Amino acid sequence: MLEDVKQILLVLSGKGGVGKSTVSTQLALTLKVRGYKVGLLDIDLCGPSVPYLLNLESQSVHQGPDGWVPVYLDNEQRLGVMSIGFLLSSRNDAVVWRGPKKTSMIKQFLEDVYWQDLDYLIIDTPPGTSDEHITVMENLRHVPQCSAILVTTPQAVAIEDVRKEITFCKKTGISIFGIIENMSGYVCPECSECTNIFSSGGGKSLSEIARVPFLGSIPIDPRVGMLAGQGKAAVSELPNCTTSKMFDELVRKL
Ligand code: ADP
Repeated sequence: MLEDVKQILLVLSGKGGVGKSTVSTQLALTLKVRGYKVGLLDIDLCGPSVPYLLNLESQSVHQGPDGWVPVYLDNEQRLGVMSIGFLLSSRNDAVVWRGPKKTSMIKQFLEDVYWQDLDYLIIDTPPGTSDEHITVMENLRHVPQCSAILVTTPQAVAIEDVRKEITFCKKTGISIFGIIENMSGYVCPECSECTNIFSSGGGKSLSEIARVPFLGSIPIDPRVGMLAGQGKAAVSELPNCTTSKMFDELVRKL
């Protein structure tokens, strides 16, 4: 039962490509490395990337006596994953569904997956505020331990879209855990100097204006990009980098 999960975190972004799935998977992996039992639910029906990011693309879910059994990343079953990607016969299959079919799929994801005892459930969502979000919000707004993490990049256009996500959360009654600014500058691997390729600090200023906690910044780091597809946690693979420190601090705040 989702009511029994210690904390549910919805990862939202206004735009695609800002690193929402990277944040969802790295947060789930960090929690696993820190000894928690974690579920990662990918409700991006049209672009499920979690199976790819965790190197689980060849896996499929099956129906057990208590519901759908998630795909586990590890033998100890500390990180379970559910995604529509596991139900498609090929990675290239396209989900072309209208709203009601999407709604019913999301409801099944929320009600019919047998997660067993979870400390944390991370929900990776599609960009924007679509049918998928409305269904999740309707089902979870009465669950007090559910809140949202908003991911943005520093560009003004992405920040403007996060403003809309804040309004959406307020309208639907989901509390906001905080904002993460991803791709916030590029750290040179040679000299460690940080260059703000776009701009920086937009996520922090928005958090101040909207009175929402700022959770931290993640620089553009090609090594983080390379962890995608391997299912490896930055905290284990790159222990002293800014990204792993940010996720470690985030886990401490949960
Ligand atoms: P979204 O879920 O918002 O569409 P993704 O998490 O799929 O975005 O990220 C888009 C791409 O950017 C991926 O290839 C990912 O590996 C890369 N990426 C995300 N964050 C970083 C980062 N901080 N440094 C380098 N590459 C990143």
